[in-house]
Amino acid sequence: MSDANTNQCNNEQCNNDQVLDFATRAIHEAQGPDPTTGALITPIFQTSTFVLEELGKNKGYQYARTHNPTRTALEDCLASLENAKYGVACASGLAAVSVVAGILKAGDHVIVGEDVYGGVYRLFERVFSRYDIRFTYVNTRNIDEVEAAITPATRLVWLETPTNPLLRLADLKAVGDLAKAHNLIYVVDNTFATPYFQRPLEFGANVIVHSTTKYLSGHSDIIGGAVITSDEELYEQIKFTQNATGAVPGPFDCYLALRGLKTLALRMREHERNAIAVAQFLEQHGQVQEVYYPGLTSHPQHDLAKRQMSGFGGMVSFVVKGGLEGARALVNNTRLFQLAESLGGVKSLLCHPSSMTHAPIPRDVQEHCGITEGLIRLSVGIEGASDLIADLEQGLDKAAKAPGSIKAEPKAVALVGAR
Ligand SMILES: *Cc1c(COP(=O)(O)O)cnc(C)c1O
Repeated sequence: MSDANTNQCNNEQCNNDQVLDFATRAIHEAQGPDPTTGALITPIFQTSTFVLEELGKNKGYQYARTHNPTRTALEDCLASLENAKYGVACASGLAAVSVVAGILKAGDHVIVGEDVYGGVYRLFERVFSRYDIRFTYVNTRNIDEVEAAITPATRLVWLETPTNPLLRLADLKAVGDLAKAHNLIYVVDNTFATPYFQRPLEFGANVIVHSTTKYLSGHSDIIGGAVITSDEELYEQIKFTQNATGAVPGPFDCYLALRGLKTLALRMREHERNAIAVAQFLEQHGQVQEVYYPGLTSHPQHDLAKRQMSGFGGMVSFVVKGGLEGARALVNNTRLFQLAESLGGVKSLLCHPSSMTHAPIPRDVQEHCGITEGLIRLSVGIEGASDLIADLEQGLDKAAKAPGSIKAEPKAVALVGAR
């Protein structure tokens, strides 16, 4: 797996004589000592504006909505990790989605994966559709469905792989070839896999979007996002849109994201190791009906995962027997796996998609998409694997006793909607 993570860095700031490893770039890229003080770690430039040396002459920074040195370090490091030229750090993952969609105009048509993040769906349907931009949702596992949705007005194709919560894959290269043939802008939300395990630009994507809230910062302590591309024209449009609309991240959040990136390689290896152990445990457990994890040989797209990913990530979903009551008994009784939305941090989380992340979707549509009431999504953290497995085991024991034997009034599972 490691050789897939040693690819050439196109960023000009990389040392051209030697190809640095992914883990090295995560720590060093754009993060040399501060030239004014020698500070080892990139400082938090907590300032709104920058003083001109004289009229018409600045030091590369003018006003912090446009640029901030802490943010520049994060942007250049992120670009390097995706083997790209340009990065734009944003105030949240959805701010990143917004600035990309902001380059579209009235009349444009977009093809979108039918199981994209709920907040992306809401943004497209409830905000951008009001500006006469049209969206068609397709099953991106099926390349023919993607192709059939192309119209003369189509400008962009947008997908996630693996998807949330069922860990379904799109063939990155097949969509890349299609996008190229039809001159479409091809955007991949790479939040779940991270560039450590998957680099979509190498398969023809033009733009990468991230919620840095998740694995990239990795500690569940910030909200952030990023857009990454090697296309200068797209970069200029996206950068312009961000500066014009204003959703930028503060320097402290950029600092925390940079701090998280330094251990990304380490964390992702550990997330994956634990996820494999958990998935294998679940697969043989009598109370579990089905397990979704691209690293299992039983996953219908395991071969595709091996072709386009160098690892399978830390997200595992499964169906517990006993429907809603089984799921309720499990999620109310785990001790290490905390019941919360979001993912990608060092602490393990679990969620019940049908009543939490995917609650706004009508029940029959949920069932149609495979989001049953027994479905549980795990964000497997980096605690000790045996502790995580023991936690799930005792939770599943409770689930086994749940149907028909409810002693106490069960706690209500909050219907909180797409975050
Ligand atoms: C969380 C998430 C987003 C939205 O990011 P925020 O940082 O919450 O705005 C977008 N896409 C995916 C795949 C996500 O998991």
